[in-house]
Amino acid sequence: MSEIGTEARPLRVAVVGSGPSGFYAADALLKSKTEVHVNLFDRLPCPFGLVRFGVAPDHPKIKSVTRVYEKTAARPGFSFLGNVNVGRDISVEELREFHDAVIFTVGAETDRRLNIPGEDLAGSHTATEFVAWYNGHPDYRDRNFDLSQRVAVVIGQGNVAADVARILGKTVDELKNTDIAAGALQALAESQVEEVYMIGRRGPAQAAFTEPEIKELGEMADCEIDILDADLDLNPASAAELEDSANSRNLANVNVLRSYAARSRRETRRSLRVRFFQSPVELGGDSRVERMVLETNELIGDPGAQKARGTGTRETLACGLVFRSVGYGGVAIPGVPFDEGRGVFRNEAGRVTDTSGDPVAGLYCSGWIKRGPSGVIGTNRPDSVETVGNLLADLPRLQPCPTPSTDSVLDLLCKRNVRAVSYADWRKIDAAEVERGSAAGKPREKFTSVAEMLAVLT
Ligand code: NAP
Repeated sequence: MSEIGTEARPLRVAVVGSGPSGFYAADALLKSKTEVHVNLFDRLPCPFGLVRFGVAPDHPKIKSVTRVYEKTAARPGFSFLGNVNVGRDISVEELREFHDAVIFTVGAETDRRLNIPGEDLAGSHTATEFVAWYNGHPDYRDRNFDLSQRVAVVIGQGNVAADVARILGKTVDELKNTDIAAGALQALAESQVEEVYMIGRRGPAQAAFTEPEIKELGEMADCEIDILDADLDLNPASAAELEDSANSRNLANVNVLRSYAARSRRETRRSLRVRFFQSPVELGGDSRVERMVLETNELIGDPGAQKARGTGTRETLACGLVFRSVGYGGVAIPGVPFDEGRGVFRNEAGRVTDTSGDPVAGLYCSGWIKRGPSGVIGTNRPDSVETVGNLLADLPRLQPCPTPSTDSVLDLLCKRNVRAVSYADWRKIDAAEVERGSAAGKPREKFTSVAEMLAVLT
């Protein structure tokens, strides 16, 4: 039996990544019967990951989940070490010198590719870039999106695509009292985009967005949604899918789309054209995107397993701006086995495994880097509870770390000129952002560079 997990020698866990799954993992550990100290690391000085940089600024209710995370941060045994990049400032091997176990909750930081010619032309962007830019992520603050274009195309029909389409479609008045980054608001205020396409490869019955999100797209002040009647003619397999009560979410989507097709159209400055059964096969243009070639698809396969297959019929859509929103993927960290195909850490119910499927002692994962980019924020709670349950079950077999001290971690970081940001530090940055925002009627005005955040602490 190892002695760790007692009052004399609490279990020491490093949680890497302070988004929802990181906070839920910390919470599950700190609420357990085991004596635990959690060091929650983030490469940025600010916590909350996707809640701060992924959730759309006009979704403040979803963001209010941070109040729950604040309660976790207030629990005894919790430390935040922001502004520390694991893999660069401190290696995984070094982390293990100071912690008995490491849980990776680093999310899915990259976008899946379409793998079509012209994908990397100027004017073709990933949804990640755009979302992170309007949310004030320091890595993306200087991105430029040519909003002088008249036609923008969003590829994909998940909730991220819906967010991107909505931010492009909304007026400044609809966004100005949110926590959208000031630079993005300014750029969007000057946007010349008049037509936004949101294109899906399958049909309305298979669309990945959810009912509240498709409803919001029909409620924009000066952007009318446009649906083709023909897209709503369902094939027998899709009709069968909608009869299955397990697909009530899809039925709700189809009903909303039908109501849009049936209602009279408003005259608006912008239009959102939601199109189905089309895949981009090529982006063209001399030095930047000028057009997209789309192939019409048909659905093949049994109900519940229908796939899009190209029919050979093609059309060209003139457009100057493209956002690819076809799902995210994880990024490998040196020292942690990675499944390239799925874009996740190799794992079994949160226990990181090697290529032969055997658990790697002391390494765990949770959230999108464990299961892939799916579900809503709350989905990460049970996911992290499962991982933590397995970690605690492994306690008798965990190798105690040689240096069980957070001060030693901080010393090492200090020697490397890394200014670790504590939770108390973050509270100061937070207060400064809220104060900046209040003048502009915003819940906060985010600092969009690490230097600005750290300047609050000097
Ligand atoms: P997603 O829900 O998986 O949607 C991905 C979309 O990309 C689907 O429409 C998919 O179509 C399409 N796609 C994939 N590969 C494609 C290809 N090669 N060509 C054309 N289309 C392709 O992913 P997401 O939108 O990135 O969202 C990630 C997760 O975050 C989801 O669970 C989402 O619900 C969640 N989220 C929630 C909210 C919210 O609650 N408001 C906001 C944002 C994100 P197929 O269906 O045909 O594969």
